[in-house]
Amino acid sequence: MDKSLMTKEKSSLMNNYSRLPITFVKGEGSFVWDEHGDKFLDFTSGIAVCNLGHVPDQVKEKLMSQLSQIWHTSNLYEIQSQKDLANLLTNVSVFDQAFFCNSGAEANEAAIKLARIFAEKKGEKQNRTIVTFEHSFHGRTLGTLSATAQEKIQKGFAPILPGFTYLSYNDFSQLETLQEIDPIAVMFELVQGEGGVIPAEKEWIDALVSICKQNGILLIVDEVQTGMGRTGTLFAYEQYGFEPDVITLAKGLGSGFPIGAMLAKKEIAEAFAPGTHGSTFGGNPLAATAGLATLQTFISEDIVKHCEEQIEYLWSKLHELQSSFTEIKEIRGKGMLIGLVFADNVSNIVAKALEEKLLILSAGAQVVRLLPPLTVTKKEIDCFIEKMSAVLKDVFTNA
Ligand SMILES: *Cc1c(COP(=O)(O)O)cnc(C)c1O
Repeated sequence: MDKSLMTKEKSSLMNNYSRLPITFVKGEGSFVWDEHGDKFLDFTSGIAVCNLGHVPDQVKEKLMSQLSQIWHTSNLYEIQSQKDLANLLTNVSVFDQAFFCNSGAEANEAAIKLARIFAEKKGEKQNRTIVTFEHSFHGRTLGTLSATAQEKIQKGFAPILPGFTYLSYNDFSQLETLQEIDPIAVMFELVQGEGGVIPAEKEWIDALVSICKQNGILLIVDEVQTGMGRTGTLFAYEQYGFEPDVITLAKGLGSGFPIGAMLAKKEIAEAFAPGTHGSTFGGNPLAATAGLATLQTFISEDIVKHCEEQIEYLWSKLHELQSSFTEIKEIRGKGMLIGLVFADNVSNIVAKALEEKLLILSAGAQVVRLLPPLTVTKKEIDCFIEKMSAVLKDVFTNA
């Protein structure tokens, strides 16, 4: 093709992201390389997506072999890898059935639709409210941004969809209000990721779950970020000792190949009859292969068990770091979803880290978010601490 048709200087992209001026062209394990061959330690995992590290062998091999077979057929026909993935997901969880789509927002849209049609089928409730929580993040579609109780996500997009009521998170005093609202469902994250890495308190979840179970309110857990081993168990709900009715997954499910999923208990899942919901691409042979190979790797390599030691090591090293840098006000999160809370805006820390060839994220203005691959080694954790110390030294001694 005529190269002049794709000049590098011109940007024809919409301006909806504030991108850093760097391009990565290769990834392997916990590292990525830019176009000049510089190597970076990646503690973002592409925002909790590359949980097995970059280009994991088993997933790569299965995808390459699928690439030469068939890519797409549509959900008009049976797709064996999609069935296999659904079976495996339901075998390793408390759910009975799966629906596949392409992203986290779509998985949450599916959950919202399922909760509504389930209520309709039961014929019990006129009130179709779904309760969500402050600082949540459920996606950017109109439905999911309406479920997301953050002004900055909704701003400019009025009218947002009706049918959502927001309560404050980890707040016992609002549980009575929840009973008064009597919603069809509550939807929440067990560690609020984008909202600032805020873990739910166990006692609060216990109380919330008990009210919901007593009143027939569905428990929808958004595990788009917390799922696939991120918090130290395959799914975060396992650590809270209850069974949700529905969970949603996406980010880590396909190791970087786009795929989302909703898992549900049978009696609820059955509200989706033919024609009620669908997706052209959802769970196509390539996506389902990526998801299946990812989950198979979790099982065959016992990734969750394996990273227990790394989690403990990283947290202890972070506490050491905090004793050298008291600017770190708090370390919070679960497993490999970690927030370092500072008193001021952290954008300079993230920018400085890039100069040190370290990729980290923020979550809100004052929180540095760490999302290392679950396959990270102790040596790489040491390397991270070294780089992070240099960053903090530079930022706080020159402040
Ligand atoms: C990222 C995220 C989403 C949205 O996922 P997309 O794939 O970007 O649509 C939804 N919920 C949570 C908790 C997330 O972290």
